[in-house]
Amino acid sequence: MYNIDMRGKHALVMGVANHRSLAWAIAECLSKAGARICLTYAHERLKGTVEELAATLPHAFVTECDVTKDYEIDEVAKKIAGRWGSLEMLVHGIAFARKEDLEGSFLKTPREGFQLALDVSAYSFINVTNRMLPLLEKNGASVITLSYLAANRAIPNYNVMGSAKAVLEQATRQMAYELGPKGIRVNALSAGPVNTLAARGIRGFTDMLKEHSGAAPLERNITKEEVGTSGLFLLSDLASGITGTTLYVDAGWHILGM
Ligand code: NAP
Repeated sequence: MYNIDMRGKHALVMGVANHRSLAWAIAECLSKAGARICLTYAHERLKGTVEELAATLPHAFVTECDVTKDYEIDEVAKKIAGRWGSLEMLVHGIAFARKEDLEGSFLKTPREGFQLALDVSAYSFINVTNRMLPLLEKNGASVITLSYLAANRAIPNYNVMGSAKAVLEQATRQMAYELGPKGIRVNALSAGPVNTLAARGIRGFTDMLKEHSGAAPLERNITKEEVGTSGLFLLSDLASGITGTTLYVDAGWHILGM
């Protein structure tokens, strides 16, 4: 149990594919701090894995939610309303782009690849938050999404995912502005590279890990546990004065000019 006390609080954590997922690292930390968790998975094929993980957390429940389907998001909201009646935390750990749009020429990104990546990886953060709003505004809430430095730097092969992350961070600021008066904080956590399913979809990811560990000020890569504890911080009252920001959890890599 951490000193942060999240007992009596409820968290919706979206984007768990397996035990390596960054969303899972945050869910574990929240649960250790006493929060109750709802995990969602994108597709039927992930159901078994996510249910097994959820079984290790007290009082967690699991439900399907493909964020490209509004009715599935609304179903999640209904289930949470029925069980808990309110939501104090939302974790958005979802991103997707087609493999062919994460390599080669960014200029040649086709319209449908661009739209799909932006829809799943950025619009879903706005849409899910909006559809959960009646639950989030009951007691006030903290909402976070997971971003990456490609939001504001050119990174080889990130291509359309860089565009999605730029939109995600802009949405974070705009949502923080709109939801502040309702007692809802909105922040992004920009993580350094961690070996997950999504990350392995980026060409050259293994080289990127090596380069990071050599050049980052802390001279190492971050761990998913560090994403977990930083997520817990942003979601907790310790961060009560922080909204609309992007917190870098990247061993200091983002400050480098050379
Ligand atoms: P991950 O374990 O693969 O998680 C990504 C999740 O997004 C998966 O559960 C995936 O499900 C889900 N997803 C994709 N399309 C979806 C849809 N239509 N509806 C609902 N969920 C969907 O990888 P991760 O690295 O933890 O990624 C989590 C977030 O962290 C992403 O936003 C990623 O960009 C960000 N991030 C990662 C790193 C890193 O190095 N790992 C660094 C910075 C930021 P499927 O497996 O079914 O597609």
